Formats: sequence, C-alpha cells, structure tokens
Amino acid sequence: MRAAILYGPEDLRVEDAPEPAGEVIIEVQAATSCGTDVKMWRHGHPVLPPYPCAFGHETAGVRTDTGERVLVSDSVACGSCAPCSGGRAQICRNPTWILGGFAERIGAPERALHPVPPGLPAAAAAMAEPLAAAVHAVARGIAADDVGILGGGPMGLMLASLLAAQGRSVTVADHHRARRAQADQLGARGAAQLSRHELVFEAVGRPEAWRAAMQATAPGGVVVLVGGCPRGTEMPLATGPIHYDELELRGAFHHSPAEVEAALAALAAGDVDWELLQGETISLEQLPEALGQRSAGSARKWVVDPLLRRGAAR
Ligand SMILES: [Zn+2]
Ligand SMILES: [Zn+2]
Repeated sequence: MRAAILYGPEDLRVEDAPEPAGEVIIEVQAATSCGTDVKMWRHGHPVLPPYPCAFGHETAGVRTDTGERVLVSDSVACGSCAPCSGGRAQICRNPTWILGGFAERIGAPERALHPVPPGLPAAAAAMAEPLAAAVHAVARGIAADDVGILGGGPMGLMLASLLAAQGRSVTVADHHRARRAQADQLGARGAAQLSRHELVFEAVGRPEAWRAAMQATAPGGVVVLVGGCPRGTEMPLATGPIHYDELELRGAFHHSPAEVEAALAALAAGDVDWELLQGETISLEQLPEALGQRSAGSARKWVVDPLLRRGAAR
C-alpha cells in the first residue's frame, strides 16, 4: 500500500509500505493534519516510534471487516495505571499510540474505533480527534459566562465553537485578521488582544502566550493551558496573581474515549462548523509541501485523501 513514511526531520517519503498490522484494518478516507504533525515532521516527537515510521493521527475510514465507518482514535490508554484508575485516561502513563493515518490503510485495536454518525463526512469525522481535546479543555475550565481564548488556530476556533454553542460570550484573540473573521463566523468575537476574562484558554503553545493568558485572567479566574510548549521549556512565573488573586493554572492534555464520542456528537449536531476549518483536500504526495507551508491567513486543516493522486485537487 502507499503510505507517507517519516525517515527523519523534514524527510517524508511516499512509498510502497508493508500492509499495516493490528486487530482491525481500516481503509483511510480522510486524515486531517494539525500543528502536531508539523512538529513531528520538522523535529520528531516523543510519541513517534523510531524512524522510519508512519504518522498521521486524525484518521477516519472504513473497517475492512465490517464495512462500518469509524474514527480511529490516536491512542488507547492502558487502563491500569494510577491516572487510568482515577478516571483520567488522557494522562495515562502507558498509552499505545496509533499513528499512520497518512496511508491507504491503518491497523488499530478495536478499542480505538468510534462509529461515525450517519451523514458526517470522513473529513469532519477525522476532526473529532482534535475536537475531543477541545471538549476536554472545556471540561477543565469553569462555568464562566465571559471567556477569552488566546490563539485563533484550529484548536482556538474549536474551543470557541464549543463555548459559543453553550451560550457563553467568547472573545478570540489572534493577530491574523482572517482568523478573527473565522471566530466571528463561529459565534465568537475576534479581537487583536484579550482584555480581562474570568476564564481564559491558551491555545498557542509558547511561553509568551502562557504569560499573556495569565495576564488576561481576572482575579479569582482560571487559565486553561491547552497549547503544549517545546519539550523542556521552562518559564518564570509572576507569583503575585497566583497567590493574591488566587489565579488557577490548569493544564489540559489530550482526551478520553467519552470525549471522543462527545466530539463526534457535537459535529453531528452542527455545534461546530467544521467546513469553516476544512482546508484543501490533498494527495499523500502533496503532504510534505503542505506541512512546510507557513500559514499566514485563515486557520484550516489539510485533508489528506490517500486515494487522490498528486496534483489532482478536488
Ligand atoms: Zn492533531
Ligand atoms: Zn493508563
């Protein structure tokens, strides 16, 4: 089968690869790309196996055994570590990662598969993976009416959609005008910067943004840190707001199986306008070039269709 295989930093080759192994084999219909894929392509990533390796973790397709349409979750938790036992599967100490969506077929354990609601296209179903992380981040927050989101990339906009669908007042700060316009279209309000909000989500993944998110949080408020910074990043913290203003900092990482189900349901219910986040459909061969492009405009996700041939844009 054809697959995009990572041989090292910025060395991605589309080639004939061995058929995947796994409990269930899925014919991939759509694999969306995200910032994590860019990081993996550029520098490698802690969850990647040794090179050469398959990657792509937002994958929807059809089971070859039953013909059922499924979303392939990118991980299954061990079920027995302390966080798993405590109901926090998203921070499992020993998860199995399921990568390899940028290929004609992917193998996965049965437990990683979630049925796609009828009528939901494969590209939208694939987005349930990052959306599940947004569902989790919202759950890490509080029931504040006034919410700020720092960063109008796909994650910030997914957070905005979910929070606006709950009837909250949402401001999304981003320096790209196109992303502010997308926020407006999703029922939030685009702004160049945040003012002060009871609840702030950081969706950038840089220490400066973590600091700005803290500064934009009202006394007694909660900051949910959604964007992961490069491995080993440390930052000085102003202790005053944490002590005197009882500012709470909460990390939000990944998702649980129930949150994946909630994300699929939100997409099927129309709570998230996924078409606004859907970018161009591309072939496997177009993927290296796509990952290398710096996006200056709107926040959109590439959709890789492994059956599409080079250049034949749909
Ligand atoms: Zn992703
Ligand atoms: Zn575990």
